[in-house]
Amino acid sequence: SSADILDDLASAIAARDPEVGAYLSHDLDAAKVAAADADLSLPLGGIPIGIKDNINVLGQPCTCGSRYLEKGYTSPYDATVTSKLKAAGAIPFGRLNMDEFAMGSSTENSALGRTLNPHDLSRIPGGSSGGSAAAVAANLAIATLGSDTGGSIRQPASHCGVVGLKPSYGRVSRYGLVAFASSLDQIGPLTRSVEDSALVLQAIAGHDSRDSTSLNAEVPDFLSGLNDGVAGLKLGLPNEYFGEGIDPAVREKVEAATKKLEAAGAELVEISLPHTEYAVATYYIIAPAEASSNLSRFDGIRYGHRSSNPDDLLDLYRRSREEGFGAEVKRRIILGTYVLSSGYYDAYYSRAQKVRTLIRRDFEQAFEKVDAILSPVTPSPARKLGENSDDPLTEYLSDIYTIAANLAGICAISVPCGTVPADGDKQLPVGLQILGPHLGEAKLLRIAKSAE
Ligand code: GLN
Repeated sequence: SSADILDDLASAIAARDPEVGAYLSHDLDAAKVAAADADLSLPLGGIPIGIKDNINVLGQPCTCGSRYLEKGYTSPYDATVTSKLKAAGAIPFGRLNMDEFAMGSSTENSALGRTLNPHDLSRIPGGSSGGSAAAVAANLAIATLGSDTGGSIRQPASHCGVVGLKPSYGRVSRYGLVAFASSLDQIGPLTRSVEDSALVLQAIAGHDSRDSTSLNAEVPDFLSGLNDGVAGLKLGLPNEYFGEGIDPAVREKVEAATKKLEAAGAELVEISLPHTEYAVATYYIIAPAEASSNLSRFDGIRYGHRSSNPDDLLDLYRRSREEGFGAEVKRRIILGTYVLSSGYYDAYYSRAQKVRTLIRRDFEQAFEKVDAILSPVTPSPARKLGENSDDPLTEYLSDIYTIAANLAGICAISVPCGTVPADGDKQLPVGLQILGPHLGEAKLLRIAKSAE
């Protein structure tokens, strides 16, 4: 029963979360009350779901991993994904740690706590949805929601050995997700299995008049064809994603996964995505530009932190932001305002938009020849804590395989494909990334199911 599930979850969280640090907060008592009248006939009836701390749930905190929103903000409304989960019978009960405002790849940029990789506590869980991935991996949640702007669902899923899906842009409403880069952000599920991923996507997908970028497209049944296999499908292997820079042990696991799909009847086809090398640079112009604009709402007046004893209004803005934001967030705002400023806009921002179009066309051309594309999720398994703390550039480069999907707006999933040895007898998970055309989630999930 739902009450039993919650009791098990409560004891698992009490036993393991002090060590893993996936949750920033939770309310299991309220969840138990909700569980008592759960309608078990609904698709997610009575299932507790953990939520990344940048998605609004009425009455719960929504800190975005930031000092800025740590105190003084309680969600006054449900995000659309939250109301949809509730309508499907699920119980959103806990808030998961994340890099501040989703900026990062390790969850080390959270101002509010540390999350460790359950497979090796000396390592990062990935990020920015590190809490969402670690919770599922450590059996501290059945399913969670994350957000993915440049890999933040798929990369932590890969590092923690769980399934992470970034839906196509427009498939899932962003209403109630605290915006990082609005043209790239999507909410998606992190789960233990591909079937669970399909179930959660089914619940949260669909048009929403409150998000003007949500698409009025039919939502197919993601579960019915899940076991149809890959016989006859063409799967592309982009040579740019298997070249230099990838850890040989990771490459071996990913290649073995592609061979498994071939053995199941798929045809592997070598393809090229020629603008791949520009993806990181393009993303780190567009994402900070949008972030600098989105984060202007944190002015010391409307939400969360307000500096005390300011000299005047300008000083209130300045000091509230200085005190409330961490270093990475400030770095992104400075980068973003720079690339948008007069005199630099054409050289950086407009140029990046043009390259973004070329990246999208690479995928459109590839999907004329293949049904989906296979690649690694990350060049290496989860790194040690603290390793890139004064080297943001190296950290940005690790997003190389995930960010093109956001720039192109297509769907992509990370599925566990084995482990590689680490220190002592520890094993670290590796993920296979499968990329599908825009709104191609049904087939994407079906291929993922065969790769599982
Ligand atoms: N690591 C990337 C960044 O720092 C992506 C983050 C995300 O997807 N939210 O911007």
